[in-house]
Amino acid sequence: MSYQVLARKWRPKLFSEVVGQDHVVQALKNSILDEKVNQAYIFNGTRGVGKTSIARILTKALNCEKHIKGEPCDKCDHCLALNENSLIDFQEIDAASRRSREETMNLLETVPYLPASSRYKVYLIDEVHMLTKESFNALLKTLEEPPPHVIFMFATTEIDKVPATILSRCLQLNLRLLSEEEITKQLSKIFKEEKISFDDESLKIISKSASGSMRDALTISEKVVSYCSGKLKKEDVQTLLGIPSEEKIFTLLDILKDKDSKGLYEFFENFDENDSCQNLLESLMKSIQEISLMQFSPDKESNLSNYAEMSPEYLQLIYQIGLSNKMYFETSSDPKGLLSMTLIKMIAFCPEEKKNFKPSNLNSMKDDSLFDWDIVLRKIDLSTLLNQVLSFSSAKKDKKNLIISLPKEKIERINDEYKKEIASSLNIYFNEILEISYDSNVDLNKTPAFIKEKLDLKNSSEAVEMITNDEGFKKISSEFKTDIKNISKK
Ligand SMILES: [Zn+2]
Repeated sequence: MSYQVLARKWRPKLFSEVVGQDHVVQALKNSILDEKVNQAYIFNGTRGVGKTSIARILTKALNCEKHIKGEPCDKCDHCLALNENSLIDFQEIDAASRRSREETMNLLETVPYLPASSRYKVYLIDEVHMLTKESFNALLKTLEEPPPHVIFMFATTEIDKVPATILSRCLQLNLRLLSEEEITKQLSKIFKEEKISFDDESLKIISKSASGSMRDALTISEKVVSYCSGKLKKEDVQTLLGIPSEEKIFTLLDILKDKDSKGLYEFFENFDENDSCQNLLESLMKSIQEISLMQFSPDKESNLSNYAEMSPEYLQLIYQIGLSNKMYFETSSDPKGLLSMTLIKMIAFCPEEKKNFKPSNLNSMKDDSLFDWDIVLRKIDLSTLLNQVLSFSSAKKDKKNLIISLPKEKIERINDEYKKEIASSLNIYFNEILEISYDSNVDLNKTPAFIKEKLDLKNSSEAVEMITNDEGFKKISSEFKTDIKNISKK
């Protein structure tokens, strides 16, 4: 038998072989058992989750001479003909390449003729959203009164682009993304049958890279299997897929934790040009996110526990920096430069950290001893004007009592409407009903306006000085022609 690629060989041929779409499969089997056949179906879902495979199985089941409890027999002439793509009464069209009105009309002209040998004539139109408006209009006329021997099946990745008039005539079946566990389980079964040796980590990496698509998982597997000559090992799979090793991510986390610019320089000096900079940043961000989550359950075992003492605010900040720089990788001609600039920014803009931070006191922001009015104001949702006025305020919190202090002339500007707005935002933020009062004993050193001024000063002079005099940064900046003064203006 000739060699078949995995994705084709393991394409499901029976309902029982479909992975992860039980809700759809069961509904279709029931409709066949009850002989409640719809004349138009639309399968909606992202690429590689089984839309056209299920449509083909449904076609078999509808025409099968001896289906068993709604499942096609896969042995009769009709089933075999469909498997071999030789069933005359089944037409599969890709709307992406045949979208014009003329082509649609040609297709629809065959609709009135009775099927050659089957019960139903089935038209499967893939990527149906790609049809032109004129094509949809032509199709709609047929859908309004289809001959009883005809069934339409549509598949789409973009259901929003399908006109409502078409949708209203279809039974809509939404296919979901597969979970990593479902993909892992299926891959494990396939690899065992194909006699491919593997370790569990390799399977996890492939499943993750497939982003919910079984077909992608098999396409990736195909590549990996030939690269690893049939023996899958975690390291090889990582290399092939450009996924950075844990050690590299730990190195980067150490650099960030210690604000180690020298370490950063060394990292780039020994940079492995095969590494994908985008993947490195994404994996780093994933770890940052995991550390942040871990701080809420410090007892949970994790290989990231070395970083549990990093300040939650710093983690938030570097995650934000990563997020805002990530999008530039798509268009950047110098991903390494971009990655280095992102990491420099992460080191350079570290806020004054809370010393003696312990993860255990992290139900934190709402603990009164750690009450930080500046942060609260940045996180709650207030109108711009109110935000401006409150930037001159300080506040104290003691359990449910919150006192907001403002200069006299500013207090007068807080009318009842504003008080309501402030109260509702703060109640949401603290998740409790607060007793809020106002006075004029404002502590100027603690107002957001003052803190911002102080920080700006610090960023522009002190921090720049400190960083530019750093040996590691000097090396990096000469290598990447970077100037911290330019970064800090952003
Ligand atoms: Zn059959």
